[in-house]
Amino acid sequence: MSTDLIDPFGRTVEYVRLSVTDRCDLRCFYCLPGDYRDFSEPEEWLTFAEIERVIGAFVSLGVRRVRITGGEPLVRKNLPELAGNLARIPGLLDLSLSTNAVGLTRQAEALRTAGIRRINVSLDSLRAECFKQITKGNLDKVINGLMTAKHSGFSPIKINMVVMHGINDDEVEDMVEFCIEHDFTLRLIETMPMGDTGRSASSNYVDLQEVKARLAQRYELIPGVMPGGGPARYVQVAGTNLRIGFITPISQHFCETCNRVRLAVDGTLYLCLGQDHKFEFRPLLRNGISDAGLQDAVQHAITLKPERHEFRERPQQIARFMSMTGG
Ligand code: SAM
Repeated sequence: MSTDLIDPFGRTVEYVRLSVTDRCDLRCFYCLPGDYRDFSEPEEWLTFAEIERVIGAFVSLGVRRVRITGGEPLVRKNLPELAGNLARIPGLLDLSLSTNAVGLTRQAEALRTAGIRRINVSLDSLRAECFKQITKGNLDKVINGLMTAKHSGFSPIKINMVVMHGINDDEVEDMVEFCIEHDFTLRLIETMPMGDTGRSASSNYVDLQEVKARLAQRYELIPGVMPGGGPARYVQVAGTNLRIGFITPISQHFCETCNRVRLAVDGTLYLCLGQDHKFEFRPLLRNGISDAGLQDAVQHAITLKPERHEFRERPQQIARFMSMTGG
């Protein structure tokens, strides 16, 4: 059996984003509707044992990196136990986490001990009022969580900021200074038309090429650093350690280098953030599929990966919110 997962377009899939819940303790207006109730039911959630089997199959076929995400992953009970079990899968080289940091004050230490080394934290504003307007949440809690994570030794810590016109686009420079001060990496993200929420936020869309040009007037930006495995194009701010990544799915898509798939909490594998191509693992797992059968299923699923998203051409297309897919 081949130990590489190569899709029909010649791309090697070596990265899985694993959503452990579709629930969240924030309500970012561009992600989940404030009154949303239609979450998956607990009996539909993959159990830890099921998740470990599917991820184990992916790793046996060449996946080297897994990022735990959601929804908000820290609201899934006993997450450090799952993280510890995943970290022990032979061949998995990199286990990371995306979080809103609300729960990090309580859980950072346990997650670090479990084997997570790197985290990404969503933080769209440093102004309490603006943060509340975007997320309905409390900024102090997030900052406390973030600082607990810093002191627990996570490295790097990357701040993800969705930049939105008229909301927080005037705060990018403040975020740059904050990240320089704390030795965080900054990643700026364009809004994506996922679900009605994402589509309505598209009216706040900011082309990050313009933000980069604006930053270049104030800072010397050295291009081409950190050619990592992800979609961000990085620059370094001269004279500092700060790296700024630009994630530009709309203004400059990066589908030709896409190396990832997303496993949702109900066992649906989404092959693309911006398309409906998917494969269901839960029925197979609950019907007693063998390990070899699971490997075959993973290989088949990868053949379904589409060439690219069509956020620009068909923005109406994706009904799922980001929190369902596993952002
Ligand atoms: N709760 C975790 C967090 O806050 O990082 C993980 C899941 S969250 C859905 C992942 C990322 O998706 C966040 O950085 C969030 O800002 C981003 N996101 C959600 N909806 C989006 C949209 N419509 N456009 C761009 N980014 C979006």
